[in-house]
Amino acid sequence: EMFGQLTSGLESAWNKLKGEEVLTKENIVEPMRDIRRALLEADVSLPVVRRFVQSVSDQAVGVGLVRGVKPDQQLVKIVHDELVKLMGGEVSELVFAKSAPTVILLAGLQGVGKTTVCAKLANYLKKQGKSCMLIAGDVYRPAAIDQLVILGEQVGVPVYTEGTDVKPSEIARKGLSEAKKKNIDVVIVDTAGRLQIDKGMMDELKDVKLILNPTEVLLVVDAMTGQEAAALVTTFNLEIGITGAILTKLDGDSRGGAALSVKEVSGKPIKLVGRGERMEDLEPFYPNRMAGRILGMGDVLSFVEKAQEVMRQEDAEELKKKIMSANFDFNDFLKQTRAVAKMGSMTRVIGMIPGMAKVTPAQVREAEKNLKIMEAMIEVMTPEEREKPELLAESPERRKRVAQASGKTEQQVSQLVAQLFQMRVRMKNLMGVMEGGSIPSLSN
Ligand code: GDP
Repeated sequence: EMFGQLTSGLESAWNKLKGEEVLTKENIVEPMRDIRRALLEADVSLPVVRRFVQSVSDQAVGVGLVRGVKPDQQLVKIVHDELVKLMGGEVSELVFAKSAPTVILLAGLQGVGKTTVCAKLANYLKKQGKSCMLIAGDVYRPAAIDQLVILGEQVGVPVYTEGTDVKPSEIARKGLSEAKKKNIDVVIVDTAGRLQIDKGMMDELKDVKLILNPTEVLLVVDAMTGQEAAALVTTFNLEIGITGAILTKLDGDSRGGAALSVKEVSGKPIKLVGRGERMEDLEPFYPNRMAGRILGMGDVLSFVEKAQEVMRQEDAEELKKKIMSANFDFNDFLKQTRAVAKMGSMTRVIGMIPGMAKVTPAQVREAEKNLKIMEAMIEVMTPEEREKPELLAESPERRKRVAQASGKTEQQVSQLVAQLFQMRVRMKNLMGVMEGGSIPSLSN
């Protein structure tokens, strides 16, 4: 099982919350310790682990529990979402050049699976209907060229070679012009791997990159090397500038550190992963699925998501009912404006009502300012006036008093009273429409 140790390490965190009613600062201490330990054992780098744990614990005590969701399930969901974020959020697609050929330059240390990836990638792109060509640029190991030729034959993709006596940048240049002649869509360039990073290797890569102007420069790294892989991605990016990484050998007993650290440490995404020795074993890196696999709790995740969705709907229902049932005197008006203010943003509230028109931030600010003015006027009304808006409608003296006491103009008071009556009418209309099904915009 991929990342099995990490999965079971995290499991002990959830288990410690079994039987708890809520998530508190106190009862998440132990589970957070488990999460921290599990990540460190998976070879995630320490600063990454620290940030991760901090963020998860902040959220854990910050969120209210969704009804029906237990604290341990809630924590699973928080950790899941944070893992997805850690791995870059969205899948990071390969980029293709506007005019063919797209050039993909592959770099990597010896033995990481770079040659295999060349052929796998050609195979992958060929299945998407793209014509490919491989360029053998690893001139230091004749065996590497032979291997690439064999793999190219296996997947049915031409391999351009010049043997070992020509400079890699020269091979690259010639290979590229050959590809242009043949109207190839994607050119994949294999480069020399060394056992360790050295200056010669970097200089050669820089030369080849300069000649090719590649759309993608991908560093192939071995998942078994954990956080070391993330460090390599950082170094190569600083030295030659890369667009992403390909993580190989994810099928082995790797611990997860590389998959979890690369994006966070280097800022560069993992674009593809190798999950076996066969030519078919290359696929895009989906942070979402990866997080799901690590947690191994797909059912819990979808349950929590559904519960959250239901909760959002119930909130909206509740709000709708409140608006509908109000016979709308100034007390209701005040209650609602305060409820809205407490909820923070009008946008959110309006957004919760299905079918309601979208509003701009400027409109929201304006609305919030108006609410403050209204509130000031309602606050100085007598209880009687609040319950019977008619009193104010009929008496200029009362309106004058409210205006003076609240520091607003008589005109503003009149407007407020008129608005309340308009609102009553609109509520009634809205109710009628809602019974019929659809809801119009409230913005007149
Ligand atoms: P290079 O030196 O970087 O070109 O590495 P190779 O492509 O020659 O691969 C080195 C070894 O790793 C070979 O035996 C490959 O079959 C193996 N290998 C490459 N990718 C994967 C992978 O995703 N999973 C597994 N299990 N083995 C792989």
